[in-house]
Amino acid sequence: MAYAHRFIDGAPCSLPRGKAICVGLNYADHVQEMHSQRTAEPMLFIKPPTALVALASPLMIPAGLGSVHYETELALLVGAPLTGCGEQDVLPAIAGVGVALDLTLRDLQNELKQAGQPWEKAKGWDGSCALSPFLKPGQVGDLQNLRLRLESNGERRQDGNTRQMITPVVPLISYMTRFFTLEPGDVVLTGTPQGVGPLTPGDRLVVELADLIRLEVSEVRARDVT
Ligand code: ZN
Repeated sequence: MAYAHRFIDGAPCSLPRGKAICVGLNYADHVQEMHSQRTAEPMLFIKPPTALVALASPLMIPAGLGSVHYETELALLVGAPLTGCGEQDVLPAIAGVGVALDLTLRDLQNELKQAGQPWEKAKGWDGSCALSPFLKPGQVGDLQNLRLRLESNGERRQDGNTRQMITPVVPLISYMTRFFTLEPGDVVLTGTPQGVGPLTPGDRLVVELADLIRLEVSEVRARDVT
């Protein structure tokens, strides 16, 4: 079924499926586990609209393309256009708050990094941006104090807090709009805390945003892409 944005409370959502603008290396503990260096400015990349899928069961991952890693991230749904905006314009333009898995072909990403090539194949493939239904911003407290957790087969793998972001949501989105216009229906992914790891067919996941969102994925399933 084609992806469409949804609100958790069932309220209708007319925002179209847009692109996802993402930031890499936005949590210091994740920078460390990747043996990377902190960047002087946010490191941005984009997933096309065809990457967006519901974070639901079965969660499809491509087979035969090397390891697929989960990255649990705070996701913001954009409700109004933003171009070169100041920080004061960011929060009023946010229509929803959710949680995403930034699914990454890690082996391929490492090959591309080494070859100095763009990351699109590792980051922007069909189904690489799995999104929860969204809360209205008024249902969420401080965006910079939200626990992000992922459990795989009963074991806690990620347990971070958005207060650990290197570039917080508001300056991050303002920065993004210097380069990319955000349009209604676009989504912003804000980076992952430490604990990223591989998904295997048959895995069962629990993804949580504070005590606001708890999603169970009862099955990860491989999809043949060759
Ligand atoms: Zn990510």
